[in-house]
Amino acid sequence: MTTGYTKAVLALGSNLGERNDTLSEAVADLVDPPEVRLLAVSPVVQTKAVGGPAGQPDFLNMVITVETTLSPLKMLEHCQTVENKHHRVREVRWGPRTLDVDIIVYGELVSDDPVLTLPHPRAATRAFVLYPWSLIEPGATLNGERISVLATRAADFGDLAPFDGFGDFDGVPTAGAVEQP
Ligand code: ADP
Ligand code: MG
Repeated sequence: MTTGYTKAVLALGSNLGERNDTLSEAVADLVDPPEVRLLAVSPVVQTKAVGGPAGQPDFLNMVITVETTLSPLKMLEHCQTVENKHHRVREVRWGPRTLDVDIIVYGELVSDDPVLTLPHPRAATRAFVLYPWSLIEPGATLNGERISVLATRAADFGDLAPFDGFGDFDGVPTAGAVEQP
């Protein structure tokens, strides 16, 4: 770890459009500024959308770890700039979105500010965050518990599947991504 840099864990999700391409570009955008250095990238996992309107396409999710000299709020702003670049739509709460970037942890910082709550308040119950994170940081803990243990306990653990790489051609989610009638 270089002096002045803080390690942060970022979770990315997409369930609209060319989801896999969006995630790849978002990773590149997130680590583009010299203030953000990439440490590790998780595999992409596929999950059912949790909450929100029924019948929306499956999410692709992944986690990256970075080290950054950006302050927590500047990091949030940076994540939101990347979301906006990918034309994120926010019409429906928990509805489909082209890109969601959440800060899961920023160093050891604990904050209950609604603008930036750290650690992310729902991360400890989301297997789609905990499982890919555990693959790149097997020893990590959240709220004093190992993230791999929290992952298996999370209600959505059974809904996770490895992303097979199919289903994003022409921007139309197909294989495994659309409920069959
Ligand atoms: P969600 O990610 O929960 O589906 P949004 O992406 O729409 O919801 O985020 C709504 C707001 O959550 C953002 O405007 C942001 O200020 C706030 N927020 C609070 N804590 C965090 C965090 N740790 N990471 C990202 N956004 C956060
Ligand atoms: Mg978010």
